[in-house]
Amino acid sequence: MYHPERVPQFVLPISFLPEAAAAMTQLGTAEHPLRVAIVGAGPAGFYVAEHFAKRAGLTVAIDMFERLPTPYGLVRFGVAPDHEKIKNVTRVYDRLAGGAHFRFFGNVDVGRDLTLSDLRRFYHQICYTTGAQTDRRMGIPGEDLARSHAATEFVAWYNGHPEYRDCRFDLSVERVGVVGVGNVAVDVARMLCRTPDELAATDIADHALEALRASRVREVYMLGRRGPAQAAFTNPEVRELGALPGADVVVRPDEAELDALSRAALDKEPDASTEKKVEILQEFARRRPSGKDKRLILRFLVSPVAIHDDGRGGVAGMRIVKNRLKAAENGSLRPEATDVAEDLPVQLVFRSVGYRGVSLDGLPFDERRGTVPNEHGRVMDPATGRQVPGVYVSGWIKRGPSGVIGTNKPDAGETVAAMVEDLERGATLSPAAPEREAAERFVCDHRPHCVTYADWKRLEALEVGRGKPQGRPRVKFTSVEEMMEALGRA
Ligand code: NAP
Repeated sequence: MYHPERVPQFVLPISFLPEAAAAMTQLGTAEHPLRVAIVGAGPAGFYVAEHFAKRAGLTVAIDMFERLPTPYGLVRFGVAPDHEKIKNVTRVYDRLAGGAHFRFFGNVDVGRDLTLSDLRRFYHQICYTTGAQTDRRMGIPGEDLARSHAATEFVAWYNGHPEYRDCRFDLSVERVGVVGVGNVAVDVARMLCRTPDELAATDIADHALEALRASRVREVYMLGRRGPAQAAFTNPEVRELGALPGADVVVRPDEAELDALSRAALDKEPDASTEKKVEILQEFARRRPSGKDKRLILRFLVSPVAIHDDGRGGVAGMRIVKNRLKAAENGSLRPEATDVAEDLPVQLVFRSVGYRGVSLDGLPFDERRGTVPNEHGRVMDPATGRQVPGVYVSGWIKRGPSGVIGTNKPDAGETVAAMVEDLERGATLSPAAPEREAAERFVCDHRPHCVTYADWKRLEALEVGRGKPQGRPRVKFTSVEEMMEALGRA
């Protein structure tokens, strides 16, 4: 819960407090480093650390907290296993973590093991980079039937996220519907269409490899509610769908055509990347199926309106309606249902309509957007219109679940600029125990099983070692118990 009355006030601006000014001006030096807690060890968190590291003349001691023993967030648990190269960004994160002023407290859940009030005792500034941990809802009947899942769960499962390893997906069915045409939908559809041999060369979790080996899925439908020009996927990702060794990609020529409104919008504001996207889809539409084992069918201008019950509480099909596009007041083209409907014979559904942030203990939350209210990364209290002192956000919890990994870099730059500005005007928290050892002692007392970066690197070396004999980049540990055992700390 958010309790504004419990939030300590800012230290006053330097001009009001001459003695404090002397103390504050020393903050950020080797003698008195600015102590910053970053909550969440995904890309957003590391880019905040990177922007601080680039500030010449400013000494910032970073403590990064992560509820899992492993860092990297969505690079480990979101990026698809067959996109290994994207994971190379972790080298930058490792370099940052090797810095003298960086500590990692893994397996520590801020909110459960430590509170925001605890952090306020040790840090001048606290930045949340917790991402978007849940999924958006479609709001249609049948959404909660068995065999209807959030795509985010499937992604976390095949990537070996400890909290999702026990999920079960019925891959004995032949037809699957994936709702949405963003990059997550593309990942899910592609993983369902990969051959076992292709998957076996990746770092996919062993349980998922086994389940997908036995998969009987033959047809995957990806459903876009708007047209090809509005599809959220990016061009390299959609192009890859046309080059799958085990699946033919199928697009209906009528659905690949641009409607008059989309054409007019593109003529008015030409956009080479959108033109290219449409071209790729139109090329798919001209293809004839070559008889591969699986078919990946991309549909456009269709919306699910209900998921049918098989009488035993499971998915037996999906009703979709044909849409037309209509210009909204803000100029964007929105889908509008027609009265043309059809039933898709799918028995398994993945809802891939976007991630959603979850509220954080002690901070305000915008339920509609699923983000923490903020201005340039400074957390704002909507009740008072004032800044919540010393607390910041970056990444998806700040701006919502959009953009690729690199998008978090400029985003973190903006937040760090705000943090430095606040430091310069003396508007940091005044922690009671800012000494380096104090936080560590407190964390280790409260969470004896906390994991350091050196521990993580040992785990990683073990994972890589397990992968070698199989020609795989790594074989992941998928439970916290396994990890603790491997570290000899069970
Ligand atoms: P996204 O890009 O926002 O796509 C969400 C999709 O769901 C859109 O097609 C959206 O259609 C559709 N949708 C939303 N509500 C719907 C509804 N009620 N009914 C039907 N369709 C609905 O989100 P995402 O795919 O979860 O990806 C999140 C972010 O991660 C994106 O920025 C993505 O690019 C990034 N990502 C990147 C990669 C990569 O680079 N390889 C991989 C995975 C994820 P509308 O457009 O009509 O709203």
